[in-house]
Amino acid sequence: MQSKNKRAIVTGGTRGIGKAIVKELASKSCCGVLFSDVAFIYNSCDECAAEIEREVGSLDTKIIGFKADATSLEEAQRTVDAAIEKLGGVDILVNNAGITRDNLLLRMSEKEWDDVINVNLKSVFNYTKAVLKHMVNQRYGRIVNIASVVGLIGNAGQANYAASKSGIIGFSKSIAREVASRNVTVNCVAPGFIETDMTKSLNEKQRELLSQNIPMKRMGKPEDIARVVGFLCSPDADYITGQVIAVDGGMTM
Ligand code: NDP
Repeated sequence: MQSKNKRAIVTGGTRGIGKAIVKELASKSCCGVLFSDVAFIYNSCDECAAEIEREVGSLDTKIIGFKADATSLEEAQRTVDAAIEKLGGVDILVNNAGITRDNLLLRMSEKEWDDVINVNLKSVFNYTKAVLKHMVNQRYGRIVNIASVVGLIGNAGQANYAASKSGIIGFSKSIAREVASRNVTVNCVAPGFIETDMTKSLNEKQRELLSQNIPMKRMGKPEDIARVVGFLCSPDADYITGQVIAVDGGMTM
């Protein structure tokens, strides 16, 4: 398959890590790969979506935003069908949309639990289900799911988030086994603490405390994650499936 014909779908592509992934996939030109077209899904920020279309799109590169709630299977199917029609197919899926609703379990509401499980985990089921038939039929697909170090080691106050991210890892390994023989790979990237809107509410003291527990003594950048996603979608990673790559400055070594 000609690399420059690759077509990607990224959920949660308007901000933070997802935005960096859209840029990386659209511009990646290493290892003989040139990803030309990316459809991204977002939930609320129309202005952010328009800005990315303007900023990243070019004469050679189609970048199209689709507004949808990633928690709905029906909306996932609709947006995947629309993306496939606009891009001419789908080769890559990056499940990145995610939220936090932190609370100690004794105080956690049912809504805080459900919202996090639905956005972080059910969306991965929705979009994977919506693209998988196409990938299996064409005997090619690269699926990368954004988990978290919290899904590997847990975190007090994040039982909902940790459960969703551990769930993503178990889901990914299972689907990797189901479709490996069809040349569809499924891997996870587990970020540590990354500078995005999700972590901007941390104050200076919390950041300093956090950094003390990171062997590299700093938070990561969205591009640190995006480059690894790009690698997992490149031909250099063709024989890698069912893996979790922690990109966390050494937190989980
Ligand atoms: P941000 O909060 O910066 O961005 C989240 C993105 O998800 C936005 O584009 C948002 O779209 C989208 N989104 C949220 N809810 C929905 C929904 N219901 N349907 C569709 N899209 C939705 O998050 P980050 O960039 O920090 O995080 C990206 C991923 O990385 C998440 O899965 C997160 O759990 C994971 N991660 C982040 C870490 C960090 O330290 N930042 C650490 C470990 C993992 P919109 O703007 O339109 O609402």
